[in-house]
Amino acid sequence: MQEVTTIRALRAALAGAPRPVGLVPTMGALHAGHLSLAERARAECATVVMSIFVNPTQFGPHEDYARYPRPIEHDRELARAAGVDVLFVPPVEEMYPPGAASWVEVTGLSARWEGEHRPGHFRGVATIVLKLFLAALPDRAYFGEKDYQQLRVVERLAADFLPGLVIVPCPTVREPDGLARSSRNVYLTPEQREQATALYRALWHAQELLAAGERSAPALEAAMRRVLLAVPGLRLDYAAVVDAATLEPLRVVDRPARALVAARLGDVRLIDNLALQPPA
Ligand code: AMP
Repeated sequence: MQEVTTIRALRAALAGAPRPVGLVPTMGALHAGHLSLAERARAECATVVMSIFVNPTQFGPHEDYARYPRPIEHDRELARAAGVDVLFVPPVEEMYPPGAASWVEVTGLSARWEGEHRPGHFRGVATIVLKLFLAALPDRAYFGEKDYQQLRVVERLAADFLPGLVIVPCPTVREPDGLARSSRNVYLTPEQREQATALYRALWHAQELLAAGERSAPALEAAMRRVLLAVPGLRLDYAAVVDAATLEPLRVVDRPARALVAARLGDVRLIDNLALQPPA
């Protein structure tokens, strides 16, 4: 595995590298979710590039940028073991040179949900993802369904700027009790870790009610809220049933849909989502 820290060195490493080239963008603190993306890329691509960059512009002023975990040595070993060919670990100044003033905004899909609760978040995400795409010029790029709205935003971004780049959605990797794997799970106290299972339980409850015939989106949302608000101290940001393509709220689940939840336990913010399959 080759490790590079500049865009110039990344381009040199990829010049003449066998194609297809697959890119796996991450913020590090690698876990089984990230590694599932790398494994998928390894299976489908001749060259696998992973980036590790904690992107400052996607964090709000009161969010966890400073304390975000950065276990680079352990990450390097995990990336190597996953078969990554080129690890791109740029310093902040490489991605945001002095005076950086250009931003990418994906309108519509960025507006609601995470966009509403984390103003500027998707502008930061879209900007860094486009910078990474332009630096690596991959044939395929791998993103987790764990961050479902981000996945949709990135698909739009790729279609608008880099037609031909294939965005590969990868299923959410979970702990045995259902909690979605996340670099932020390390912040949870043992009690919060227990309580955090409520997110997946709420999503699953919505799916079960739907399978039993409840097609009203507001009824499914209320049911998810009941599960979440039964957890003492949990602060709910949203529990929504949305059109899987547009992320607009639904009245009735009569097309492919997604249940989305976001909640805070103490100062740890967690998100999760689940595909909702209406009965045939
Ligand atoms: P992050 O390092 O949190 O920015 O995540 C990097 C990529 O890994 C994103 O595409 C995430 O959606 C994906 N990812 C994070 N957690 C999981 C998970 N539990 N299962 C699948 N993909 C994930």
